[in-house]
Amino acid sequence: MKPFIPDKAFVDPRSLKYEDGQRIIENLKNYQVPIFHSRKVEIEGNSKKEDYLKAKKTVYVTVNKQKKLRVCRPSADYQFALTSSCPGHCEYCYLQTTQGEKPYMKIYVNIDEIIDVIKEHIDKHLPDITTFECGSITDPVALEHITHSLARIVDFFGRQPNGRLRIITKFDNIDTLLSAKHHKHTKFRVSLNTEYIIKTFEHRTSSLEERIRVAKKVSQAGYPIGFIIAPIVIYEQWKEDYTDLIQQLSDLFADYEEEITFELIQHRYTQTAKELILSRFPNTKLDLDDKKRQLKWGPYGKYKYVYPKEISSKMKQMMYSLIETEFKNARIEYFT
Ligand code: SF4
Repeated sequence: MKPFIPDKAFVDPRSLKYEDGQRIIENLKNYQVPIFHSRKVEIEGNSKKEDYLKAKKTVYVTVNKQKKLRVCRPSADYQFALTSSCPGHCEYCYLQTTQGEKPYMKIYVNIDEIIDVIKEHIDKHLPDITTFECGSITDPVALEHITHSLARIVDFFGRQPNGRLRIITKFDNIDTLLSAKHHKHTKFRVSLNTEYIIKTFEHRTSSLEERIRVAKKVSQAGYPIGFIIAPIVIYEQWKEDYTDLIQQLSDLFADYEEEITFELIQHRYTQTAKELILSRFPNTKLDLDDKKRQLKWGPYGKYKYVYPKEISSKMKQMMYSLIETEFKNARIEYFT
């Protein structure tokens, strides 16, 4: 897909003292993005919807001074961020509720300091291996054509005997990553869904075909790979469509002999997320009928609505059996 170009970039004056900050601002200028030097991001829409749409085209170049990383179960030990938010408009994005009414994208430029913090967390757990996720509050690849920061981090992890990185994306601008010296210390996971789900709900992200191409390219570049199938949604043709998806993957990766991991996540929502989705996407085709769901207590102190046990058990069974039949080299990490 065409790489995302922001409409506007605000620049925190603190970013200017970092070499990476200067470089990223130069890249934004090369993309003809208007630059505003300010400690404040100004987004003036005429409605909440307009605020949201404008924010999704605005970046803020700033610094990330976080010293203590948050844990990130079940996918890794810790999470860190090079960017926040994302230019995608996935209707069920879990960031809908955490990024506020104006989810503009932050680009962090103090990469060396972020690396120091990661290194401290690795050292704290020696001689164990510590794993890190960089896609918890962002899509880490979506802005890579502007920042080139992810490639630097991948190189860094390539040199860490006791550190491992996990990337997840729905975007296909991965050129900088293909030549990074990862030494197999970065696991590259592509987020997939059925063609119907991607086209209906995951606006302004790469298509299924483009994402599969990403998985092919990164596997050829030697990265360990995995697929996250999320959210698994029940709709009229869901069984046929998820079966087609797994069979298609199995055909395309028939020659790939290394392990392929799968992470499977059923669709869920909180009441707050539901209200936001309905205000931002009033014509959504997402089934948000509470009566068809069951409540589950979430780790962040909120109830979420998941599929009733008898349905989610069938979903889990179907996905496990499909993957185990179609792949000889698959490992399912979790279904949740
Ligand atoms: S690509 Fe990921 S982070 Fe971006 S909107 Fe979609 S779900 Fe959210």
